[in-house]
Amino acid sequence: LQSKLPHVGTTIFTVMSKLAAETGAINLSQGFPGFDCSPELVSLVERYLRKGFNQYAPMTGVPALREALAQKAFDQYRVAYDPDTEVTVTSGATEALFAAITAVIRPGDEVIVFEPAYDSYVPAIELNGGVPVYVTLTPPDYQIDWQEVSQKITDKTRLILVNTPHNPTGRVWTTDDLQQLADLIQDRDIWIVSDEVYEHILFDHRTHLSLMTHPVLQERTFVVGSFGKTFHITGWKIGYCLAPKELSAEFRKIHQYLTFSTVTPIQYALADYLNDPDHYRQLPDFYQRKRDLFLAGLSQSRFSFKPAEGSFFQTVSYVNITDEPDYDLAVRLTKEIGVASIPVSVFYQQKNDYQMLRFCFAKEDAILQEAAQRLSQL
Ligand code: PMP
Ligand code: GLN
Repeated sequence: LQSKLPHVGTTIFTVMSKLAAETGAINLSQGFPGFDCSPELVSLVERYLRKGFNQYAPMTGVPALREALAQKAFDQYRVAYDPDTEVTVTSGATEALFAAITAVIRPGDEVIVFEPAYDSYVPAIELNGGVPVYVTLTPPDYQIDWQEVSQKITDKTRLILVNTPHNPTGRVWTTDDLQQLADLIQDRDIWIVSDEVYEHILFDHRTHLSLMTHPVLQERTFVVGSFGKTFHITGWKIGYCLAPKELSAEFRKIHQYLTFSTVTPIQYALADYLNDPDHYRQLPDFYQRKRDLFLAGLSQSRFSFKPAEGSFFQTVSYVNITDEPDYDLAVRLTKEIGVASIPVSVFYQQKNDYQMLRFCFAKEDAILQEAAQRLSQL
């Protein structure tokens, strides 16, 4: 069989988590919480399982959850989405990203991708015959050069992929970024997929500027979210897409044949759980404490860093420590000092030697302290 994704192997997340498990290392590589979700949420799922909510959910998601998501968007961002026609529940953000990209891209279409980029975007573009066009963001600030974006837009550009707060850099979009993007696409046939799975994890009193908050952008954007990050349930694989009616209609045609519908009892449980906004409003404080704890430990080390603005990832530079390639260093640190990380070069298509590692700080405090202590020995 001739591979449709010849350059793709096993993802780095799987590789590093496996190596961490084999060596008994502290696993700060793959991004997932090292603690459990709320027992209240588990009880809710149990209740719906026992009540017999065990058959197919409606294709678009159970009405109560779509209504709760529309309400949340309105409460937070003052944007009204119609739960019947503009909100769709998916099997994780990964499915939503794939469906949105598939809804837009035809063979030969160009897609602007900011790199470093989360690993599922480019394969989804390529499987649809699209052509990724890269705009490179460089450490330590990872600012977007909007002039470069403008120069890379052609008549073939159909889609721009946005991710804020950003994995792996932790960077968060500003009002200026939103305005620059709006100015660029205003008179063109360009759509946006905005990956906002870390929308509730922002630090130092920043607010999340969802692309839906800009009227020009809102009309053309598929906003993608995930409950995995917000409620510490990455294993439940449940996410969603908010998009204007015409976009949602096309999105749903794809979703219908990718998965048809998403796990039923969990949808009912999440609808109840979302009714209390405190369940996500405490997230910035919760994760900022962890970020600060980890960075306080790392300040004793020879790593250098700019504190993440959002997400549960911190990238650090090791230029003061070694000039090994980042992949080799990540493997060596896992084996020798027992701390697993992700080499940031894997998020770039263009080869580079920025010498950065990514650590996930969604872990118990004692684990973060121990990891920082081990890293400070270098
Ligand atoms: N986008 C980004 C930026 C992510 O970090 C992740 C989770 N690793 C996803 C999408 C996928 O989310 P889900 O697990 O809900 O499919
Ligand atoms: N999003 C997670 C990360 O960036 C990994 C998800 C996965 O393993 N596919 O680490």
